[in-house]
Amino acid sequence: MQIVGLIGHPVGHSISPAFQQAAFDALGLPVRYEAWDTPPGSLPTTIARLRAPDYLGANVTIPHKQAVISLLDAVDPFARAIAAVNTIVRQEDGTLVGYNTDVEGFTRSLRDEAGTDLGGCRVVLLGAGGAARAVAAAAAVQRAAILTICARRIEQAEDLRDMLVRTELLGPGMETRVLGLTCPGEMLGRTIETCDVLVNATPVGMAGHPSPASTVIDPAWISPRTLVVDLIYNPPITPLLAAAAARSARTLNGLGMLIYQGAAAFERWTGRAAPIEVMRARAREALHG
Ligand code: NAP
Repeated sequence: MQIVGLIGHPVGHSISPAFQQAAFDALGLPVRYEAWDTPPGSLPTTIARLRAPDYLGANVTIPHKQAVISLLDAVDPFARAIAAVNTIVRQEDGTLVGYNTDVEGFTRSLRDEAGTDLGGCRVVLLGAGGAARAVAAAAAVQRAAILTICARRIEQAEDLRDMLVRTELLGPGMETRVLGLTCPGEMLGRTIETCDVLVNATPVGMAGHPSPASTVIDPAWISPRTLVVDLIYNPPITPLLAAAAARSARTLNGLGMLIYQGAAAFERWTGRAAPIEVMRARAREALHG
């Protein structure tokens, strides 16, 4: 039996163990996927343990995606550029290589579930934290026309823009703008009304969040021609997505991104194609019974 684990703090709420285990079982692979609650002080010990032959690797989640980088032997250039590792693969010689599959997960979800990419689009990104970094990188790689990063702390949005410039992800073509979410609404409203894709990368609207019934923007700004993506997957229809659907806009939630980032990790650990539909069905069951 080989072992893969989820490294985070906390990890109890995660549905990754459920859908990853379903994938290993569906392919008849003798692998057990475990959840390892890892307070920051224990991260080096948890990573060191992964070097033993019975481990295939791990997923990494909040708050360790950045801190884990210095503990690995090699990091994929793209993961290094966006300073976030969410997947570790143990090599045969026991060395550990880090990857980021969130960008791939977001890209595949957009392509396979919404039939689109961000090439040439005006994209508005709400939030500038970890998930927003993956979306911003995807926008840059796919050559969006304009990426507007909106955050309540303007300096966080500026840091994200600097990351895109510093890592040369911003090739010719994409313009980036930053806007404060708390600034007077006119500029923000116009930007949202005229965008092609609006992505919520804040936790506002998530089950268990202090304001589960709210949105970070005025829903009246949503145009019917905008694709509205919420990275939240629980609940499946967030207040933002409900408002978008009421205004006849197309919508996509974050479950696809979660499944596809997990599938990309699975494929790196096993070298086998991930059983996407098995993973999706098990994830839905784990979320909603
Ligand atoms: P994070 O690193 O903590 O970033 C959250 C961002 O949202 C920050 O910019 C934060 O600003 C902002 N924010 C939080 N509360 C806000 C509010 N009330 N008003 C305005 N902005 C607010 O978290 P994350 O890892 O990026 O996760 C963000 C969301 O994406 C979560 O709901 C998570 O479940 C989801 N997610 C989904 C996937 C997927 O695969 N579908 C993957 C990763 C994350 P401050 O720093 O000022 O608080």
